[in-house]
Amino acid sequence: MNKNEEIASLFQQIADALEIKGENPFRVNAYRQAARVLSELSEDIRVLLQQGKLTEIQGIGPAMAEKIEEYLATGKMAKYQEALSGLSPGLLALLQIPGMGPKTVSLLHKKLQVNSLEDLERELNSGRLEALPGFGRKKVENLRKGLQVYRQGQARIPLGPALTIVRRMVEMLSGSSSQISPAGSLRRFKETVGDIDILATGRDLNLIIEKFTHLPGVQEVIARGETKASVRIAPEGLQVDLRVVAEDSYGAALQYFTGSKAHNIKLRSLAVSSGYKINEYGVFRGQKRVGGKTEEEVYRNLRLPFIPPELREDRGEIEAALKQELPQLITMSDIQGDFHVHSHYSDGKDDLRGLAEAARKRGYKWLAIADHSVSVKYAHGLTSDDLMKKLEEIDQVQREFPDVWLLKAAEVDILPDGKLDYPDWLLSRLDVVIAAIHQGFSKNVTERVIAAIEHPLVDIIAHPTGRLLTGRSGYQIDLEKVMERAAERSVALEINAYFDRLDLNDVNAARAKSLGVPLAIGTDAHSQAMLSYMELGVATARRAWLTKNDILNTRPWIKRGKRTNVS
Ligand SMILES: [Zn+2]
Ligand SMILES: [Zn+2]
Repeated sequence: MNKNEEIASLFQQIADALEIKGENPFRVNAYRQAARVLSELSEDIRVLLQQGKLTEIQGIGPAMAEKIEEYLATGKMAKYQEALSGLSPGLLALLQIPGMGPKTVSLLHKKLQVNSLEDLERELNSGRLEALPGFGRKKVENLRKGLQVYRQGQARIPLGPALTIVRRMVEMLSGSSSQISPAGSLRRFKETVGDIDILATGRDLNLIIEKFTHLPGVQEVIARGETKASVRIAPEGLQVDLRVVAEDSYGAALQYFTGSKAHNIKLRSLAVSSGYKINEYGVFRGQKRVGGKTEEEVYRNLRLPFIPPELREDRGEIEAALKQELPQLITMSDIQGDFHVHSHYSDGKDDLRGLAEAARKRGYKWLAIADHSVSVKYAHGLTSDDLMKKLEEIDQVQREFPDVWLLKAAEVDILPDGKLDYPDWLLSRLDVVIAAIHQGFSKNVTERVIAAIEHPLVDIIAHPTGRLLTGRSGYQIDLEKVMERAAERSVALEINAYFDRLDLNDVNAARAKSLGVPLAIGTDAHSQAMLSYMELGVATARRAWLTKNDILNTRPWIKRGKRTNVS
């Protein structure tokens, strides 16, 4: 969060708290208004403070300005402490539930003494809610759903961090196992996971369990048996389940515990109809065990090719496998470059040489260095002059890296009026123009994105829906319309591989392909290390059934300026 967002969030919470307490609606609104203004402000609030321009911002009066100044100087805001005093944290947590506003929270608190999620659940089950003024069956039903969504969201973490955790654990256990693998939704590379499953086998199963429960980072051993143990790990508090199975059953168990449930149900009924039975122990014909040591064996017994875990969602993969029509999914080794990397010119950490070096190490043929444009002040967006300087430095650095093309790129903001944040003469000097929305999330997003698609110099639309896995649900955008226009104009949509984005997601990327939209993966890396997010983008593409031909990163890129074919 940058400072603008931090203060906007404090103001929002003050407004919520005041509203729950039933204070003057005008004061409540003043805080909400200030929060909205700050969250859409393109200038850095610290700069405005230095220039003495806080009160020139529409919607920020002297009283608000004072609080902003206090927070920037001390890191605290007395009004925030005051507003939240007397409210239990459980009560404020209720506001996170979709469909729950401060008015509802206040009413539930006063009439039914609801102070926490548990209280709300109790009242939902008691039937007393329907009788409250302004409630009704529909509203109660919505709250019930909201609570469910909230609980699920709470418990899930994004794929990227989950992979890091599971790989560390697998690595530490690999010495005592003959085979070990993540299982469950993590092995299918689902975008978020609720818990982590690991499956292992070896000669001494007890030893594997013993090692597992004593791994560094284990906070609590929840359960420990002969074939299974569950632990909670710090600091995430995430649950990790380990199962150990006999070496002969490893493939059947891996297939079983990888899921998804829907895939497995269909696979089992297919087995039954061809005279087999499969379960976590193996493949059986009558009493006779005919396979299960490897996953391939399980599928082969049903006359199916191996189905990659990313496809196991019952989205037609079994039917396609029966017809031998599974797609040849894109792999990491097909990737020749990354479309979206920030350097220290804007908010990235590394300089051009460092990035070029990292691209070379990954075996890339090209790397598009795309920094923010001028109006994204909080991310140090580049002025036209800065960008020109950067282009010159790219030419210099390029001479030291004849094997990696450094593509001149920019992540250009689509302004609230649909225009781009750089003039055309400047855009035409770039090899890749990526257009993106970072401000004015509530203003005609669909029209603005389509205007960008129609701009003759735009190549890619970045993170098309704006959703964040750990928070924001995305802009109001008519993706179908955007995709149709992108297909007509051959403008690519991005699969943004930043761990918190994965945007487009798997379902939308599959839809894009079916409409003929070109797709480009960009890691949105802000440091060399983040180039590794490419794996998350490729996983998303694989879950969307995409092949090498569907993704622009598998091609040698053509430098627009020079029309040189890179190969
Ligand atoms: Zn962006
Ligand atoms: Zn970016």
